[in-house]
Amino acid sequence: MAKAIYPGTFDPLTLGHIDIVERALNLFEEVTIAIAVSEKKVPLFSLEERIDQINNIFGNEKRINAIGFSGLIVDLAKEQDSNVLIRGLRAVSDFEYEFQMASMNRAMSPELDSIFLTPKAQYSFLSSSLVREIASMGGDVSSFVDPIVEKDLKEKFK
Ligand code: ADP
Repeated sequence: MAKAIYPGTFDPLTLGHIDIVERALNLFEEVTIAIAVSEKKVPLFSLEERIDQINNIFGNEKRINAIGFSGLIVDLAKEQDSNVLIRGLRAVSDFEYEFQMASMNRAMSPELDSIFLTPKAQYSFLSSSLVREIASMGGDVSSFVDPIVEKDLKEKFK
């Protein structure tokens, strides 16, 4: 039962991400949520805001740790002494990109394995970008995100 890394942008963390983290915690001792700085994507929430959201949501779970990263995931995995990447698969449409990433990561770091977990069916259509879009137009996102993120979204689009 080693440590797994769950990398992503998490802009913001959704209930789909939380579902995947909870599944990963049943399989691994520790889960490090690695938040991509993602300057190119120009995130809605700063790295600090995304780290705070995750720490507040998982506050009392000591087996979860949130960190920011820029650069290659394979380097981060080495630095964190982990050989496992967790990724979520929602639909077939995720597969092609994820397969390419996993293969590329394996080419760079053969000992690193990617493990794919699927969320509850009700989250299989959920993405951070849709949540941002709905929130930006004043829509109700309470069934897609934790109340902490819902409050932060309201604040952003006030
Ligand atoms: P990206 O790397 O495309 O920016 P995110 O940061 O949104 O992706 O998400 C990180 C990981 O979580 C990816 O593997 C993505 O497929 C997965 N993920 C995102 N939303 C969900 C969801 N609703 N259910 C399951 N997995 C998800």
